[in-house]
Amino acid sequence: MTTTRTAPALETAKRVAAQVTDPEMPMLTLADLGVLRDVAVEDDAVTVTITPTYSGCPAMATMRDDLVHRLLDHGFDDVRVRVALTPAWSSDWISERGRQALRDHGLSAPGPAPAAGGPVPLTLRPTRRDLACPRCGSSATAVTSEFGPTACKAMYRCEDCLEPFEHVKEI
Ligand SMILES: [Zn+2]
Repeated sequence: MTTTRTAPALETAKRVAAQVTDPEMPMLTLADLGVLRDVAVEDDAVTVTITPTYSGCPAMATMRDDLVHRLLDHGFDDVRVRVALTPAWSSDWISERGRQALRDHGLSAPGPAPAAGGPVPLTLRPTRRDLACPRCGSSATAVTSEFGPTACKAMYRCEDCLEPFEHVKEI
């Protein structure tokens, strides 16, 4: 009776994988981040497909280890993590729940991603964005550094409440 065994196993694997969080933005699950692409169970082997976020984000190895360990902890003893590079991850894949979680933690969620496919403009000036301060909602914000503590975030300061905040970049 493989079907009766596989269906709950798939549900469990999906639930466990979806709850793994991003090591750099722990308020976001891999599901909310849009990194988790697919979970499949076949003959008791779990295959999780993930798509890396920002290139060069060292978080990927941690995500992979976390997925494997969490699934092993839930009784799966054959866990594989497959990395799918196409289609490329976009910050548009962050769910509405994920965006709310970012705001709840004082981070500014990414705006619409630039159109894919065309040449990527390379400029030394900071990208212009219309942001609202995640604390007070003011739109009087100024970029202080295009590279925050991690490459995927830019640093901003609110000119009304004067609080600095991090903005998760569009990609
Ligand atoms: Zn503010």
